[in-house]
Amino acid sequence: MADAAETFAFQAEINQLLSLIINTFYSNKEIFLRELISNSSDALDKIRFESLTDKSKLDAQPELFIRLVPDKTNNTLSIIDSGIGMTKADLVNNLGTIARSGTKEFMEALASGVSDVSMIGQFGVGFYSAYLVAEKVIVTTKHNDDEQYIWESQAGGSFTITRDVSGEQLGRGTKITLFLKEDQLEYLEERRIKDLVKKHSEFISYPIYLWTEKTTEKEISDDEEDEPKKEEEGAIEEVDEDKEKEAIKKRKIKEVSHEWELINKQKPIWLRKPEEITKDEYASFYKSLTNDWEDHLAVKHFSVEGQLEFKAILFVPKRAPFDLFDNKKKMNNIKLYVRRVFIMDNCEELIPEYLGFVKGVVDSDDLPLNISREMLQQNKILKVIRKNIVKKCIEMFNEIAENKEDYTKFYESFSKNLKLGIHEDSQNRTKLADLLRYHSTKSGEELTSLKDYVTRMKEGQKDIFYITGESKKAVENSPFLERLKKKGYEVLFMVDAIDEYAVGQLKEYDGKKLVSATKEGLKLDDETEEEKQKKEEKKKSFENLCKTIKDILGDRIEKAVVSDRIVDSPCCLVTGEYGWTANMERIMKAQALRDNSMGSYMSSKKTMEINPDNGIMEELRKRAEADKNDKSVKDLVLLLFETALLTSGFSLDDPNTFASRINRMLKLGLSIDEDEAAVEDADMPELEDAAEESKMEEVD
Ligand code: ADP
Repeated sequence: MADAAETFAFQAEINQLLSLIINTFYSNKEIFLRELISNSSDALDKIRFESLTDKSKLDAQPELFIRLVPDKTNNTLSIIDSGIGMTKADLVNNLGTIARSGTKEFMEALASGVSDVSMIGQFGVGFYSAYLVAEKVIVTTKHNDDEQYIWESQAGGSFTITRDVSGEQLGRGTKITLFLKEDQLEYLEERRIKDLVKKHSEFISYPIYLWTEKTTEKEISDDEEDEPKKEEEGAIEEVDEDKEKEAIKKRKIKEVSHEWELINKQKPIWLRKPEEITKDEYASFYKSLTNDWEDHLAVKHFSVEGQLEFKAILFVPKRAPFDLFDNKKKMNNIKLYVRRVFIMDNCEELIPEYLGFVKGVVDSDDLPLNISREMLQQNKILKVIRKNIVKKCIEMFNEIAENKEDYTKFYESFSKNLKLGIHEDSQNRTKLADLLRYHSTKSGEELTSLKDYVTRMKEGQKDIFYITGESKKAVENSPFLERLKKKGYEVLFMVDAIDEYAVGQLKEYDGKKLVSATKEGLKLDDETEEEKQKKEEKKKSFENLCKTIKDILGDRIEKAVVSDRIVDSPCCLVTGEYGWTANMERIMKAQALRDNSMGSYMSSKKTMEINPDNGIMEELRKRAEADKNDKSVKDLVLLLFETALLTSGFSLDDPNTFASRINRMLKLGLSIDEDEAAVEDADMPELEDAAEESKMEEVD
């Protein structure tokens, strides 16, 4: 009894995707074959991995293969694999009812023009590319844990699933049959299929067989043939007699036979010698490995020999994937092989998280074939392999750095990863630091390395100076840089949120301390005794004002001191050497779910540094000396504090009070009387009156 077909509706986004695939004009349709072969290869990887611990999983079909069958009678092309197959539930979920996150992203990328259809594999929806060339697709599949099922759809909103009891049994695996559109029959041609496999699927590590037609010509003698018929033909056509005779003597008939022809004969590329591999070969291997549509930016092919042996090829892509820092997604893209046998994708133990953008393969001679994920965690061999891989990655990055244009590209895409590495990988911190690039007070439009910074250090300069902040614009004119700039000291601009964490771990470079221009303890001791003495005297004369400021600001600051670092601005706010900088405070405030109680003790106490050479400060000093309780002193100190919060990169807790203080100053400056200003459309007061009024205000 034949089973009834069950009908399912495609999930809405998948439906949209299908219409897009079917209706968008797109000429490069050939990529469908690569996508389907790559799915087959994944399915084979899965069953092979399962069979490592349980051989019986292969019983239903011991051979692992991919077979391609063009059928010119029915205009179908079938892709058959002996992979893991799909259960009924897999079919329902994987092929139509559950949209992957990539579905929407792929459509958006298509619409915005950043991607084209050939990039479909990157978004995890490659199967649907079948509809580029097919009007109908039938998937027959058999999983070890279920019966054989048939999935069928002509797109158009729905698909059906039927239990397949009477059809040809696969044993295990999946057969995808494409009913080709009338204008896509080229994919039935042997030559075309062979070329496509060579172009896109050359590095698939399972044999790909093509069902080929062989015509052999066989000579037969005259008497075997039907004479009268021949004479008839001869009678109709006027043929040269000699030729006719010859043809009759050596009659040949065509014999058609079929056979499986192996069409991918390359041995794995990582086993070959690097000097014999062309750049194009690496590129096509990279593409087959990653589904990327662009070539790689850099490659490192190496083997390690001695006590431990393994071969590896590592690639750096040209750009970051769309989901680089998506925590839910396992980024790691190193495939692990053991003696040519694929073991697993995304082997986390092979490479640290911060290098998750590096792709490649590792083939070890020493690991056991039946290694499980759990065993990997403790495996010593793996630890050594990992160490080597990190080393080679850093070597590869340094090679990229030899070409400025390439490095700019690399750095734009992956600088965050390097900085994460500095934060996390203490062993390689110094080496990673060489790869950092920053804008600085002297770098102009270019970025500078720490190494180059050091070569430019002034005589007597002991430390490397940096400032952190929200953007280059926000820091380049910061009051903190005044003195440093005046002395000709270069200051690095660290304007990536992660810089704050990275520099916190790095601490020094090439024996030189990294010193924040915005923290306490910035010492620029290169003065003569005379200058020092003068300064001390000045400091003394400001002691009173410092006390007054602290009294007025109370808890808002830790203390007020005479500054060493500012030249023009009246004052600035610095944070403790070990506490958060203003920038860090901003970053932490931005983290929505942060525990609020933390802010109070983690945000470090601010020290107000005042500039004794600034006119405002000098005037303030005089006023404070004359009368400690002068109201204008209090007002000015509060205003200076709030302004300093802004110029030092902090945010204002109460912008309204700040605004009214500013407004009051404006009125004072413009000589407007409070009450009169409140009356709408009131005329500006006369100048004479204004003088009096401002006096009045002082009294009040
Ligand atoms: P991706 O392969 O990137 O996950 P696809 O849209 O190509 O996305 O395939 C969706 C899912 O369907 C796969 O993840 C896999 O589970 C299943 N699938 C597709 N082709 C096969 C196949 N030949 N054998 C077994 N499962 C398959």
